[in-house]
Amino acid sequence: PAEPALEALQHADVARLLPVPAAESDKYRRGVVGVAAGSARYPGAAVLAVAGALRGGAGAVRYVGPAGDAVIARFPETLVSDRGPHKAGRVQAWVVGPGAGDDAGTVAEVLEADVPVLIDADGLRLAEVGAVRGRAAPTLMTPHAGEAAALLGVERAVVEGARLSAVRELARRYGATVLLKGSTTLVADPSGGAVRVNPTGTSWLATAGSGDVLSGLAGSLLAAGLTAVDAGSAAAYLHGLAGRLAADGAPVGAHDVAEAVPVAWRNVA
Ligand code: AMP
Ligand code: MG
Repeated sequence: PAEPALEALQHADVARLLPVPAAESDKYRRGVVGVAAGSARYPGAAVLAVAGALRGGAGAVRYVGPAGDAVIARFPETLVSDRGPHKAGRVQAWVVGPGAGDDAGTVAEVLEADVPVLIDADGLRLAEVGAVRGRAAPTLMTPHAGEAAALLGVERAVVEGARLSAVRELARRYGATVLLKGSTTLVADPSGGAVRVNPTGTSWLATAGSGDVLSGLAGSLLAAGLTAVDAGSAAAYLHGLAGRLAADGAPVGAHDVAEAVPVAWRNVA
């Protein structure tokens, strides 16, 4: 069979994907995104994932985990719960893993949910292949090259030298959509179709916490009803553009990128 084509993400295609609430919509119809992230050691990852999620089009963000106080202090609109994912209440898509440390139990619980799940960061290491493969609802995994290498059991340089085959192999192995982050971000779906390439990034995004914002953003788009490949693509496109707009030639923090997402959205929509 022929190699599947690479498909550059186009502005107009992303514009069509961005959810707009209908006139009679409400927060539940817009979608509730659950964020299971952060730990006593890394509370900031939870805050940044929520920061991304609040700008991704879901009608509400629900946070579960040990960083609820930090999340609420920064984002009072978050619905915070100290119960596990199963008892958190209505959620239409989950983000699990940023700053999660070694909380394998939460990752396993989230993977049992019958809604789309985005797995990032520590969650990637903690997610069992079988648990991901066995899911009926879509899964979106968002490794950087180092995380992808660890999942594949190869050196980081191997992934960096063969990013297209790495992202396709991970998608095949996990039966999941995989978004491989980097200077160009690739999005592969498990069916082996064309791999999407995001051209909007900037190296100013190479900053701590940047990926956590992307996770929240993509999770929010999943909750709003986009497919895994569309949510990953649109999030990467907006995140890259937000990075450019926030940085504008100067260093920025990840929270600045999250704050620039609405401007990026208006630019695309
Ligand atoms: P993480 O490593 O999880 O914090 O994610 C980093 C984020 O920044 C991802 O969205 C990457 O695609 C993006 N990023 C990192 N380095 C670069 C780069 N050199 N050029 C463009 N985007 C980058
Ligand atoms: Mg990361």
